[in-house]
Amino acid sequence: MRPLSHVADRDDAIAFAAFHALVAPALRAAARRPLCRARHAGVACRAPAGPGGCADCEATIDDLLLDGFARLRSAVAGPIPATRSGEPVREMALLCGHLTSPQARDEDAAAFGRRLARAGGDDEPAWLRAARAQLVHYPLRHLEERVRRADAVRRGASARPDRDLRQAAWAAPLRADSAVLDMLVLAVFRVRRGVTEPFEVPDDLRDRHGLTRPDAARRMGEALRALRGTNPAFFAANIGGPPFEVPAAPVADPQERLDTAVDREIARASMCRLVSARLGDQRRRADRRTGYRAVIAAVCAVGAGRSGDPVAVATRNLGLAPRSARHLVRRLAILVAAAGVDWSEQLIRDATTGRSPI
Ligand SMILES: [Zn+2]
Repeated sequence: MRPLSHVADRDDAIAFAAFHALVAPALRAAARRPLCRARHAGVACRAPAGPGGCADCEATIDDLLLDGFARLRSAVAGPIPATRSGEPVREMALLCGHLTSPQARDEDAAAFGRRLARAGGDDEPAWLRAARAQLVHYPLRHLEERVRRADAVRRGASARPDRDLRQAAWAAPLRADSAVLDMLVLAVFRVRRGVTEPFEVPDDLRDRHGLTRPDAARRMGEALRALRGTNPAFFAANIGGPPFEVPAAPVADPQERLDTAVDREIARASMCRLVSARLGDQRRRADRRTGYRAVIAAVCAVGAGRSGDPVAVATRNLGLAPRSARHLVRRLAILVAAAGVDWSEQLIRDATTGRSPI
């Protein structure tokens, strides 16, 4: 048994082992949902092999535990942190009082760790309720938003792209058209959340601006083009994707040529995001990326006239139900068609061999 009193031990190593036993199960369980929403578009976070989450989420949980440990240690050593009005935080005082009491020497840290991870009942000691508030809920406040911002900043994107679009001087021309502004805010919001189809215009936004489906798709293309023209660096960091290519073959209608190029760029940007590490951390979402690659490869095989069963691959590699798998394959088929089968196959080859996808 690791006694609870060890959390207040002078030796950091002894104290951390007891703190970990007490806090980690509850913190890990409570962090799961916000982390999935922030990093995995709401899909469960999994380690590529074995138990636990992806490397990024594990690192976040480790950081939270270390921060919480440092905060509790300084409270145990004194003084107790104060509220804005200068009063000592009551829950922290209660918690520290218990950890340094004689009773804590006979209590098992791991047993209380299991209780901390469950919802508290009426029979719960007051110090345990205080521990849940101070060591679990307090460190996790605004976690989802904090993780999103930190991840975005890490890959060079703006911390608050929606605010930039709504307020920055450079974005003033984009705000002249409210539909353009709404579409761009939506696009950066969805790109950040890793949505598969970030540039699809939802019905409520379409209705708000009285746009038909084809109109909405065209306006989204125009909005993205306007953004790239206005601020290429912002576009690259927050929307991403490969550099814009001017199509080589002349096409009769210049507007049509541009639209086709924009569609293709959007499709290629979406696919890069799905399969590559280029826009995120190297380790990030590695298992899902591998799954997407396999499905896209199967879609390409069918597109190139070879045999393949992308729905079966999606079911197997991404763990999707048949209906969701069919839906995903339909979406990917549209992307592959817009991006080009040859380009898509090259993307998968490069991504698999670890080369830059472009
Ligand atoms: Zn994760």
